[in-house]
Amino acid sequence: MDIKTLLHNLREEVSCPVCTNIYTDPKHLPCLHSFCLQCLKHWHRSSHGRDTIRCPKCQAVSRVPDSGDLKDLPTSFYLNGLIDVLAIKECKTSQVGCGNCQKKSSHSSYCFQCCMFWCKECLIAHNIIQSNKDHRVLALKDFQEKDYEDVLKRPLFCSKQRHEKEELKYFCKNCETAACQSCVLIHHAGHAILHLEEEAERQKMELKSLIEIQKYDLQAKINTLGRLNEDCIKFIQRSEDIKGQVQKFVDNLIATIETKKQNILAAANDETKRFLETLTTQKMEIDNEIKIIESSLEKADTILKRSTHAEVVQLKKSFEEIFQGTQSQPKDCYPEKLPFLAFVENPKMLSTLNAEEIGMIQIAHQTKARQSVAEGKGLEEAIANRQAHFSLTTRDSKGRQCYNEGDHVTAEIIDEQGRDCATELKIIDNKDGLYQISYSPRNEGRCKVTIKFLTGMESFSTSLESREERMGSLIIQDLC
Ligand SMILES: [Zn+2]
Ligand SMILES: [Zn+2]
Ligand SMILES: [Zn+2]
Ligand SMILES: [Zn+2]
Ligand SMILES: [Zn+2]
Ligand SMILES: [Zn+2]
Repeated sequence: MDIKTLLHNLREEVSCPVCTNIYTDPKHLPCLHSFCLQCLKHWHRSSHGRDTIRCPKCQAVSRVPDSGDLKDLPTSFYLNGLIDVLAIKECKTSQVGCGNCQKKSSHSSYCFQCCMFWCKECLIAHNIIQSNKDHRVLALKDFQEKDYEDVLKRPLFCSKQRHEKEELKYFCKNCETAACQSCVLIHHAGHAILHLEEEAERQKMELKSLIEIQKYDLQAKINTLGRLNEDCIKFIQRSEDIKGQVQKFVDNLIATIETKKQNILAAANDETKRFLETLTTQKMEIDNEIKIIESSLEKADTILKRSTHAEVVQLKKSFEEIFQGTQSQPKDCYPEKLPFLAFVENPKMLSTLNAEEIGMIQIAHQTKARQSVAEGKGLEEAIANRQAHFSLTTRDSKGRQCYNEGDHVTAEIIDEQGRDCATELKIIDNKDGLYQISYSPRNEGRCKVTIKFLTGMESFSTSLESREERMGSLIIQDLC
C-alpha cells in the first residue's frame, strides 16, 4: 500500500476490530490479527480455554504466552507508528499529547530520534540538552508524505522499565527476542546474541521463501478450483448428452415398433384386398347370371301371355335351352368359403419389453495411470522380428479394473538411442479395461516401453510408474 492510500484509509487501519476504537497497546496473535491488549484480555477471560486463545477475527486458535500474560504477546510496532501518523495527520482537529508532560496541544512537534511528541515548552528543554543537538525535530503542521514514511520507519525502543530510551539493536537466539544493549548485559548473559538487522535480513529471506511456498500452494488450490469448475460444466454437459442419447435410443425403439406396426397393417390391407378381389369376381359372376335369368324370365312371361298355342309349343324347346341346368330343386350357388383373417399377438414381444430395461446409467471410474498395470512376457524378453505380447489393465484410483470409452491408449517402444524399435505394433481394446498389445522388435538390445493414455475426462495430472524389467524399463503415463 503506498503512503497516499495508507493515509487515506488510516483510521480504518488503526481501528481495533473488537472495540472499533483506535488501538490502545496493540498486540498481535500468530495469525497476524491485532487487537488492543485490554480487548484481548477481556475476550480471553470470557472464553473457555486458559492456555489457548481464539482469534476474535479469524477464529484461529493459538497458544497463550508461557507467562500466561497476554501482555507478553508481540507488540504491533507498525500499528503504533500508524497511530502516531494519524495523530500528526489530525493534529489540527484533535490535539496531540506531549510525550513528556502529557499536555495536549495542536502546536506540538515530533522528534524523529526520541520518537515522541513534544509540546512547545518541553521542546525548549529538549533542545537545551547537549546530546539532543543532532535530533531532527519537525512541527506537526509541516509534515509531508516523506516525513510520515520516516515516522513509520523509526527505530524501536525497549519496552522494559527504565530502558525506554534504549533502541532494540540485538537479537537473542536463545530467547528468540529482540533486546536492547542493557537487556543483553542483564538478561541475556551467555546467550547467543546477533545484530537485529542481520537477523531481520535472514528472517526476511526465510519468510520470503515461506511466502513463495504459500503462493505456490494457493495457486495450486486456485487451479484445482478451476478444474473442479470445469468438471462441473463437463458433468452437466455429460448429463445433457446422456439425456439426448436415451431419447435417441427410445425414439429408435419406438420407430422400430412403429415400422413393425405399419408392416402388419400393410399385410392386413394386402390380404383384405386380395380377398375382396376374389369376392368381387364372384359377385360379378353371380350378378351376370342373375341378369341373364331375369331377362329370360321376362321374355318367357311375355310369350306365355301373348303367343298362340302353336307358338308356345314351338318355343318350349328354346326356353328349355335358356333355363338349361335349371332343376326343379334350386341349388346353393355360394362359392367356396374364404379363409378367416386374424391378428395373432406375439406375447414374447410384450414380455421382453416388460422384462428388459432400455439401458442403464453406468458410473465409469476414471482410469489412473499410477494404478494401471502392464504385464506379460513381452515386457521381459522378446526375439528380434518375432511377435511379443503383453497386456495392459487400466484401473481406477481404488485399483479396480475400469474402462472408459474416452480413454485413448498408445504405446511406444524405443531403444537406448531413443529410436523407435518396434514394427507391427498392435493394440487390441477388449472394451473392459484390458488391452492386448503386440509388437515385433527390429533388433536386439535393451529398449524402453512407454504406454500413454489420454483419458476421456482429462482432469488429472500426469503420474508416472516405472519398473525396471529385464528387457528394459516400463513407463505408463497419462497424456494430459
Ligand atoms: Zn480494542
Ligand atoms: Zn486472526
Ligand atoms: Zn510537554
Ligand atoms: Zn529528541
Ligand atoms: Zn531493555
Ligand atoms: Zn536471551
